[in-house]
Amino acid sequence: MQTNFLIIGSGISGLNFALHAAKKGKVLLVTKKKIIDSNTNFAQGGIAAVLSRTDNAKELINDTLKAGSFHNKKSAVKFMVHNSTAAVHRLIDLGVEFEKENGKLKLTREGGHGKRRIAYVGDYTGKEIERILVKRVKEHPNITILENTFALKLITKGKTCYGCQVITKKVENIFADQTILATGEIGQLFLHTTNAKISTGDGIAMAIEAGCKVKDLEFIQFHPTAFKKNIFPKFLISEAVRGEGAKLLNSKGERFIDELLPRDKVARAIYKEGPVFLDISHKSAKELKKRFPRIYETLEKHGYKMEKDLIPVTPAVHYLCGGIVTDLKGRTNIKNLFAFGEVACTGVHGANRLASNSLLEALVFSNQIAKELRKQKTPKLKINKTKLSTKKISKKEIQKLMWHYAGITRDPKLVKEEAIPKLTRILNEIKGSNKDLQEAKNMAIVGLEILKAILKRKKSLGCHFLKKL
Ligand SMILES: Cc1cc2nc3c(=O)[nH]c(=O)nc-3n(C[C@H](O)[C@H](O)[C@H](O)COP(=O)(O)OP(=O)(O)OC[C@H]3O[C@@H](n4cnc5c(N)ncnc54)[C@H](O)[C@@H]3O)c2cc1C
Repeated sequence: MQTNFLIIGSGISGLNFALHAAKKGKVLLVTKKKIIDSNTNFAQGGIAAVLSRTDNAKELINDTLKAGSFHNKKSAVKFMVHNSTAAVHRLIDLGVEFEKENGKLKLTREGGHGKRRIAYVGDYTGKEIERILVKRVKEHPNITILENTFALKLITKGKTCYGCQVITKKVENIFADQTILATGEIGQLFLHTTNAKISTGDGIAMAIEAGCKVKDLEFIQFHPTAFKKNIFPKFLISEAVRGEGAKLLNSKGERFIDELLPRDKVARAIYKEGPVFLDISHKSAKELKKRFPRIYETLEKHGYKMEKDLIPVTPAVHYLCGGIVTDLKGRTNIKNLFAFGEVACTGVHGANRLASNSLLEALVFSNQIAKELRKQKTPKLKINKTKLSTKKISKKEIQKLMWHYAGITRDPKLVKEEAIPKLTRILNEIKGSNKDLQEAKNMAIVGLEILKAILKRKKSLGCHFLKKL
């Protein structure tokens, strides 16, 4: 197969980029399950931007830097924030109907934000964004979608990318003028996560194998309030619930933290405090059902009524602040290879992401290169054939190891002496190739890079927290 733009991933970043690229040439969008299987589809809270007269860019920049412990790349933060209003309006123009009041956008607040500045659709903002983007992509004559197509390995020679090997029913080569990694998150490396099952770190692993620079992998954000039940992935109770006044209570019924501090601080406080509950019983069932329909329904299914019950919550892996190093236009250090969305490290999040900045980042950066996109003539390379194995593998061992050694608090001695040797052994034992084996391999490759990054950062910073010994 041959195309101008090969996009791997169908979340907000891949779909948005596809709409731009389709104006310049033929687009092939591959995605490993159904088109809507993405973390974008899970996003609840909303998208942050400068959207009201009482807000300004300087304040959102400052809140982003403060949440990120000032480890952020300031130029990238400024760039994102200055393009934030236009990015939200692009979604509106494409057909996303954010909540409104008296004809104006209705805004909510989340942890770390000094203002109400988050545009939202109920508690299913991501689902609505995904629905509209998928609709627009499906309508476009220049875009071909291949579902159930697993990206296996980037095709590179020297420091240039020529496309990607994929698994459909067999291994096939797709040659492309430009290849775009929009493969999202890594949460499935850990035992407890809010991330969708697709989040096995494939894009980062492929990039590492191809020689891409990666950065800040130790900064893994734990969401403070996942529903404490045996559900996999863990069901998230959006920060917007605290934004609307929910309190965090310990087993004595006492408050122990300011609920709207940045996530790293709240997550650690919950972890330390023991059993913790969310209390939003000051709101009526009617109000809650209207504002948080999906959360209300899910909790009710598990026997909890938000208007009267205390909801048990626990931190869970939620977001990777680091990733493949890119510039403001999504370029990696490999020619013709781009990365957008959560797989990329633009530097905006620093050591801890500010709530609702990730949909914004994915959108703003995948908008930028659009004007410069060009078709090129890419030579076909001769590639060795890969035979598929029928073996299956359990990923539980990796998930338990990462949760234990790279969780909320980390002990560098144990990471060095136990975690790295164990994970290296697991990686070396994975032989053969198929989708299942490759996911496990990818998890181990990315896991090892995370462990090495933990060792390199000698002091606690943001969501990287070393055990006090
Ligand atoms: C529960 C939850 C709630 C969230 N709430 C918010 C929120 O309110 N606001 C906010 O800003 N952010 C939120 N986030 C974060 C945000 O949703 C993500 O950061 C963002 O959607 C990532 O978009 P993306 O395009 O980078 O990747 P994704 O949306 O994760 O899409 C990745 C795509 O890549 C595909 N893929 C992966 N590997 C392969 C492969 N090997 N081959 C082919 N395809 C592959 C997947 O199938 C998928 O289609 C939330 C995240 C979660 C999990």
